[in-house]
Amino acid sequence: MTESSTLRHNPFAFDAETMRRLGYRVVDRVVERMLHAEDVRPVDPDKGLDDVAPLRRPMPDAPQNPEQVVEQAIDDIFGNTMNLMHPRFYAYMPAPGNLISALADFMASGFNVFAGITPHNHAAFEVERQTVDWLGGRFGWDFPSSGLFVSGGSAANLTALALARHHQLNDDMTGAVVYCSDQTHSSIERSMYVLGFQPDQLRLIKCDADLRLDPEALEQAVRTDLEAGLKPLCVVGNAGTTNTGAVDPLSELADVCERHDLWFHVDAAYGGGAVLTPQTRTLFAGIDRAHTIAVDPHKWLFQPFECAVILGREQSWFTDTFRVLPAYLRDTDVTGEVCNYRDMGAQLTRSFKALKLWLSLQVYGVDTFIAAVEHGLAIARYAEQRAAALPGFEVTTPATLGVLTCRWIGDADARPDDSELNRVNHRLAQALTRTGFTYVTTTDLGSRTVLRFCPIHPAATERDIDETFDRLQKLAVNPAVA
Ligand SMILES: *Cc1c(COP(=O)(O)O)cnc(C)c1O
Repeated sequence: MTESSTLRHNPFAFDAETMRRLGYRVVDRVVERMLHAEDVRPVDPDKGLDDVAPLRRPMPDAPQNPEQVVEQAIDDIFGNTMNLMHPRFYAYMPAPGNLISALADFMASGFNVFAGITPHNHAAFEVERQTVDWLGGRFGWDFPSSGLFVSGGSAANLTALALARHHQLNDDMTGAVVYCSDQTHSSIERSMYVLGFQPDQLRLIKCDADLRLDPEALEQAVRTDLEAGLKPLCVVGNAGTTNTGAVDPLSELADVCERHDLWFHVDAAYGGGAVLTPQTRTLFAGIDRAHTIAVDPHKWLFQPFECAVILGREQSWFTDTFRVLPAYLRDTDVTGEVCNYRDMGAQLTRSFKALKLWLSLQVYGVDTFIAAVEHGLAIARYAEQRAAALPGFEVTTPATLGVLTCRWIGDADARPDDSELNRVNHRLAQALTRTGFTYVTTTDLGSRTVLRFCPIHPAATERDIDETFDRLQKLAVNPAVA
């Protein structure tokens, strides 16, 4: 140590030995959870606010023992939260995370990088630019891709619509219309609201039998709006819907967009990971024609929250939309190919989210990610076979991009009416989750309530599926549930 650092007093520092011991302890607890996630029962502890009452306390005035506080926090907090890392967590999008990315988040905080500016910070800029470009390349962009890391698919979709509004309309929203399918994620509706559009400026276009946006219905809607003197602005295509994993016919949507000079945004928040594997890449044909693409590496690229990317073909779309230069930021101003990420989105101060994806790709290699995605696809297909063979059940949508939906329908000769079926399926999902063995949710497809399984954890097994469906079948014949 230099003389000055020994003399300097930092009230937040401990002696080196204590600091290391605290860090090692946290690492131990995280590693333990990562290696033994499946030993945690139940999958969802289902703790209410009363169960976590010990966490409610006045803000402490005086210091407390750091080891006790940290240890207690790990027990009280992480022992009582939904275990998204569990291999039998089938709800929403499972989030197994990985060690390297968790360490990257620790490093990003520990070294506290400010990812909003590039001058004095070129290494962080290069990592982010390169990671964005790698992703764009996987979507078929053979030019340097632009874009930036944001908190999630919701922020990515919001950013995309802001670009479309600025570029297509010069921000005059009068009469503008956005088109998407009725399976589109709710973040599009919310983005429209945040950007100041009225609810009637969003057209929900009907889907075909496979829950994919119908391009002819889209073409018709655009023409009708043009004839009415409205301004068709943007089509949002899905590359993996949240409900069923459906991928819209992106090529045909791109045709409609080109014909009418519309912005084409693709929401690949969930499905984006599957673009890596040749097994499913054909589903994405046409995605390379998008203006913007939203991807959530915190969904199917096994990253911890928060990690999403909004990709765009032109960097100027971002900077034209978001750049503002106050005097106090003048000294770090930079434009052109090397620009400031603060000029490309809504955030000035930004954490270094690109690091975790970059570092985990370095350590594991993309082949490991591809194999993990393919494993999830295979487990979902296996689940479909099992569901199809389950007496009294039907597959409602086949395993698509790792998502399967099915429902209980009972005996053909004594089939309850639809509302009764919906009620039973809802109760089945709850009863199955209450077993503690797995965590499953429902969704609605039209008027039908269905069970939704997303078994894409890289350590998920066929046996997990067998044991889950065995329990499901037992519950379904139990009159207290069904
Ligand atoms: C999850 C999801 C979103 C929203 O992403 P967040 O990261 O939760 O903000 C948007 N679109 C689709 C298709 C999604 O599955």
